[in-house]
Amino acid sequence: MKSVAQHLADVLAVVAPLGAIDLQLAEAHGCVLAEDVYAPADLPPFDNSAMDGYAVQAADVVAATAGQPVSLSVLGDVMAGSWQSLAVSPGACLRIMTGAPIPAGADAVVPLEWTDGGLASVAISQPPHPGQHVRRAGDDLRAGEVVARRQGVVHATQLALLAAVGRDHAVVHPRPRVVVLSTGDEVVEPGQPPRPGQIYDSNGYALIALVAEAGGHAYRAGIVGDDVDRLAAVLDDHLIRADLVITSGGVSVGERDVVKKALQRLGTVRFERVAMQPGMPQGFGTIGPDATPIFCLPGNPVSALVAFEVFVRPALRRMAGFDDLTTEPVLARLVEALSAPAGKRQYRPAEVSLVDGERVVRAYGRAGSHLLAGLAGANALIVVDEQTTELAADSMVEVLPLARADR
Ligand code: AMP
Ligand code: MG
Repeated sequence: MKSVAQHLADVLAVVAPLGAIDLQLAEAHGCVLAEDVYAPADLPPFDNSAMDGYAVQAADVVAATAGQPVSLSVLGDVMAGSWQSLAVSPGACLRIMTGAPIPAGADAVVPLEWTDGGLASVAISQPPHPGQHVRRAGDDLRAGEVVARRQGVVHATQLALLAAVGRDHAVVHPRPRVVVLSTGDEVVEPGQPPRPGQIYDSNGYALIALVAEAGGHAYRAGIVGDDVDRLAAVLDDHLIRADLVITSGGVSVGERDVVKKALQRLGTVRFERVAMQPGMPQGFGTIGPDATPIFCLPGNPVSALVAFEVFVRPALRRMAGFDDLTTEPVLARLVEALSAPAGKRQYRPAEVSLVDGERVVRAYGRAGSHLLAGLAGANALIVVDEQTTELAADSMVEVLPLARADR
């Protein structure tokens, strides 16, 4: 049997970052940058007011106190978005709004709160020091400075900064487009009355959600029965829209394990036994004219999820251009003793929580690769290495957090 580490290494040797493309800014959200971006101009681009108030010459109002306010005549208003029609002269001021350009002649802003709010003339009861409440051009970034670096992720704040310097596009590694296909004669769409012997497709939904949460564009291609030719035809149809294909089911040694039969004959997909539980049968390789990577995951729901976490997520991250591919395990104290099989790495759905500031973990429900309800309550996987068969209560164990929206 092949080790988990070796299988992951083999997978990562095949998948490569998707070629960089120039995307509209909103589309670039969540993507990895493939260019260094520099500020074309200062940010902010011009001196502007940080407050609603009055643009003044600070020297005019140094003597202002609450008891003896200084009066200035108000020459007019400067609104946000207006530009330089009026200037401040000695003894006078302009009413100014937040974000409006500082008019010529002014060197400070008196906040509205320090005044009587006058329109023709204003009484000022507190002096600003020179430069006070003025946001200087280039305060945030100077022209030519780095806005965002290659390999950085375009999160909300990077998106904001790119927009702030005027960029409406960015060169990034696109999100991988992933086609998800379920297989099995017994597998049917939820929403219809159950017939004897049938089960509903849960893997298809699990996998599109996992792909989306991992930053991919998921496309659920539905269900194919256990029919080698049909499977080959459906895969062929969908290759056009796929950077990666994920199938589930049909990879064991059973009579009807048609994914294995259909893809084995192409010669580019290998079906192997990986020393892990759950998730032992794994298929991986490439198909089609563009050598599109394909994962053929086992059908049992827990096996499929574990295989996604251990092999598919790192592959997707590589395709999306990330440098860090795997989730680092964290240590937690095991609440109840656990046993695990020898010679295989075990991944056990578990619930991690903080108790008095300490991270503790307990296996969630029984072990069993078909037990979906237990999995739905889990927020982590306990990882037990190949050599360990018994873990005592209170021992420290490695835990892989699952990406969950409510974490
Ligand atoms: P297989 O890998 O095809 O032998 O399937 C292993 C187990 O997983 C069987 O009990 C299948 O019924 C089940 N299974 C296969 N595909 C799915 C699916 N899409 N959703 C839920 N269970 C599935
Ligand atoms: Mg099957």
